Amino acid sequence: MARILAVANQKGGVGKTTTSVNLAAALAAARRKVLLVDLDPQGNATMASGVDKHEAKPNGCEVLLGEVEIGSVLKRTEAGYDLLPGNGDLTAAELKLMDGMAREHRLKEQLAKVADNYHTILIDCPPSLHLLTLNALTAADGVLIPVQCEYFALEGLSSLLDTIKAVRMRLNPELEVEGLLRTMYDVRNNLGNEVSAQLTQHFGDKVLRSIIPRNVRLAEAPSHGQPIHLYDRGSRGAIAYIGLAGEIIRRERAMYAAQDAASDTP
Ligand code: ADP
Ligand code: MG
Repeated sequence: MARILAVANQKGGVGKTTTSVNLAAALAAARRKVLLVDLDPQGNATMASGVDKHEAKPNGCEVLLGEVEIGSVLKRTEAGYDLLPGNGDLTAAELKLMDGMAREHRLKEQLAKVADNYHTILIDCPPSLHLLTLNALTAADGVLIPVQCEYFALEGLSSLLDTIKAVRMRLNPELEVEGLLRTMYDVRNNLGNEVSAQLTQHFGDKVLRSIIPRNVRLAEAPSHGQPIHLYDRGSRGAIAYIGLAGEIIRRERAMYAAQDAASDTP
């Protein structure tokens, strides 16, 4: 069964899509079977994966509405991970789902059909806490929260954490915060250090060790429809995302080992 991670933060421009795409590619490069779900109507993760969002039909919209088999919609990307594409149709899906039964569980039900084929499923969430994101949080085992190392970085985190708490109570008791990921970190700027210190003070070891630097190659890669390791594998951005993939894999191994030890204890 795949481990499902939602990449979420209702703030736009914090690095959700950059992280989803490049982590998917870095995990695939480490021989993991990965599915990336583009759940943002902007379709940026789809484009950045080299798939034209305008031609991606059917896509996540029809999957959420139960109109097509999820397996028939998935696309293999050049970087070696599979993609469930998304585009503006997802807005329509969200509206249609509003009146539906079990409307928060649609993505979970669909992902269950393909979960055995993957080690990891990553979900790139839209910048909101509405129904699409609730579907992601209901399907997920963990939430990966990119935090931009800028002023007001912590603003909004409490409403995200409240939402996660509410989802845990009502929809998905298993949901955990996988970690907070510092993104767009600028070494020449003291602010990054300040924000970093504040995050550690508030969230302790939930703050991931990997730090994603501000790196122009990361910003350029999407317009070429390529993850960073295809676009410029030696760049600081590429190296940082490979480090993040390693950290996620190590945490997963430690978690499974702890679960095994617990189940061995009489
Ligand atoms: P979100 O999905 O949270 O809205 P994005 O991943 O789309 O955020 O990032 C917002 C913008 O910042 C994009 O133009 C992206 O290319 C750029 N960006 C993201 N991460 C970095 C980084 N580490 N260094 C430089 N630019 C970045
Ligand atoms: Mg995005």
